Amino acid sequence: MEPQIPKPQHKRIRREKKTIEHMVELYCKDHHGTHGEICRECREFKEYAFLRLDKCPFQEKKSTCGKCLVHCYRPDMKEKVKIVMRYSGPRMLLHHPSLALHHVWDGRRKPPTLGKKAA
Ligand SMILES: [Zn+2]
Repeated sequence: MEPQIPKPQHKRIRREKKTIEHMVELYCKDHHGTHGEICRECREFKEYAFLRLDKCPFQEKKSTCGKCLVHCYRPDMKEKVKIVMRYSGPRMLLHHPSLALHHVWDGRRKPPTLGKKAA
């Protein structure tokens, strides 16, 4: 039987967070002229994205957020994530190739459904 110890965060989620963090940094640096530390708006966005990951019902089974069938982002945050991904996505290959490749692989996973909701 599985022991009832609090599970450390799955590495899939940790990696997703790292990917988002780098993407936000790239975006903020080039759009808001920050160096090293991201601006308040971007920090709020990052924290929001992290929170969504913490609460993601799929955890290590998740596809990438862009492919997910459950739209858990607030509309304004969803706009922001689209803009950030569009800008930083291709640049991730240059700056953080291994994270970028993982993200592509993760995105090829078929997005799971919650089951309860019949499509
Ligand atoms: Zn910013």
